[in-house]
Amino acid sequence: MRRLPLQAITLPVIMDAPNDDAEGWIGMPTPRGHSLRSVRTIKGEDILPLRGRSRPLDSAIASLRSAISLRDPKLLKVAIEAAGYLTAIPGATTEYDWSDMSLKKLMPAARWEYSFLMSFALRDVKIVLWSPENGIKPPALAMYCPDNASASFTLLAVGKLSLCANKKCRVPFTPSSPRQIYHSEQCGSATRARRSRNRTGRS
Ligand SMILES: [Zn+2]
Repeated sequence: MRRLPLQAITLPVIMDAPNDDAEGWIGMPTPRGHSLRSVRTIKGEDILPLRGRSRPLDSAIASLRSAISLRDPKLLKVAIEAAGYLTAIPGATTEYDWSDMSLKKLMPAARWEYSFLMSFALRDVKIVLWSPENGIKPPALAMYCPDNASASFTLLAVGKLSLCANKKCRVPFTPSSPRQIYHSEQCGSATRARRSRNRTGRS
């Protein structure tokens, strides 16, 4: 059987929490020593909608994810180009030859952009050894996220969170199956209606 090393471990995702809500502690190294922080595990429903600079990053990541899962050459091209604007750093710019629109060419390019953007989105996440339940349970590995955005991208990366595929909504939710892409029935029908309006030329 082929191993899927990327899916081999799933660690709990933890964030700072007020004392009353804490499920454990971590000692976080700081330039001056250690800071003791109270933390709790978080789930999809704890994530708030993304704001500010996380929004364009989130839409680029969402476009890549959906283009990759649909294996649609046109969507892949649009998503790769959009990601290219965000990853425009010296030396990393990839010149794509759009004369070859085969999936064999487009899929690896899209996956590369996806992993690049995700690694950027996860840059502040740290692997820590936390002390669940004040030491009642043995210390365990966890992913510590310093803010809502990094927690959102972490849950997205481990498949425990989706953001509603309705462009006008983008509410975070926990999918009940890998096929669920809208957070509600209404968002699904709104998007399908918008698409069919666009197709028939009315707006
Ligand atoms: Zn929605």
